[in-house]
Amino acid sequence: AKRTREGVHLYVPDPVTGTGASDRLRTMEELRTALDGNELRIFLQPQMDLRDGRIAGAEALVRWDHPTRGLLSPADLLPAAEQAGLLRPLTDRVLELALAATARWWPEREVPVSVNLSAANVTDLDLAGKVAAALHRHGLPARALTLELVEDTLMADPERGRAVLAALRASGVRTSIDDYGTGYSSLAYLRHLPADELKLDRSLTADVDRDPRAAAIVQSTVALAHALGLSLVAEGVETLATSATLARLGCDVAQGYAVARPMPVEDFLDWLAASDSGLVEEALMPQLGR
Ligand code: C2E
Ligand code: MG
Ligand code: MG
Ligand code: MG
Repeated sequence: AKRTREGVHLYVPDPVTGTGASDRLRTMEELRTALDGNELRIFLQPQMDLRDGRIAGAEALVRWDHPTRGLLSPADLLPAAEQAGLLRPLTDRVLELALAATARWWPEREVPVSVNLSAANVTDLDLAGKVAAALHRHGLPARALTLELVEDTLMADPERGRAVLAALRASGVRTSIDDYGTGYSSLAYLRHLPADELKLDRSLTADVDRDPRAAAIVQSTVALAHALGLSLVAEGVETLATSATLARLGCDVAQGYAVARPMPVEDFLDWLAASDSGLVEEALMPQLGR
């Protein structure tokens, strides 16, 4: 129990952050302020085409530059955003930051940006319209944007989710199934999902160079993805041995610390400029056995 000026409060542990309910309430209040101001940031993490070493894209990952607690990660802020009903405005902000960043390298470098959606977005029948308006504001074509969602996001309202995804795709925005292999992942479900890309979860790619069973799963998922006309992205690729094996198994794209860690936008612009002169490819490709 915690003694405050108002009296004795029962300490209610928060299963996500381990902090109390009152801390969480304060976090929710602060998050509202953060969304109005400019405390939200994105980090960008590059994706590499495993066939030729070119930069295939970059994922925007939200960070909260909190005035006293420092740089907070999604695990610290997404649960509070969900509780406070702020996931939609959070996505709007991240989308805005991601497109503003992309406009700085597009069209010189046609590197698309990926943004993560939450369940609150996928039930928003107006999402495709909002996204089209945001792209237009930044002078970007629809193919400059990929929207990622985890399968379970669609579970609440699969019919509506599918309609929202279909509208996005019809407008030319790419769609991606994130953390594939960890959710329901029913094959019947995949059959009807309007998607362009599967992102294989880190738990399925991590041991691929050492565990033949993991390799078998990756290999069959590559075959499945390609048969369905989807591109396969491996996430959480931490070592060059892993990325070499994934390339051999037919994965299209790798994302992970082996390529680069998520970084601030300014750093990403430098990184992209360096990769323009071949530096990034030269550092990585010999290890891939190409
Ligand atoms: P995700 O979409 O699967 O993003 C990849 C996460 O894996 C990121 O963590 C990234 O930093 C981390 N990662 C990348 N490469 C490696 C690696 O080689 N090894 C390891 N161990 N980890 C790696 P982060 O930034 O903490 O994001 C966590 C999750 O939060 C994301 O998972 C995504 O589901 C969610 N998220 C991030 N930004 C947003 C956002 O703007 N909106 C929404 N709705 N969700 C977001
Ligand atoms: Mg993602
Ligand atoms: Mg993922
Ligand atoms: Mg993941």
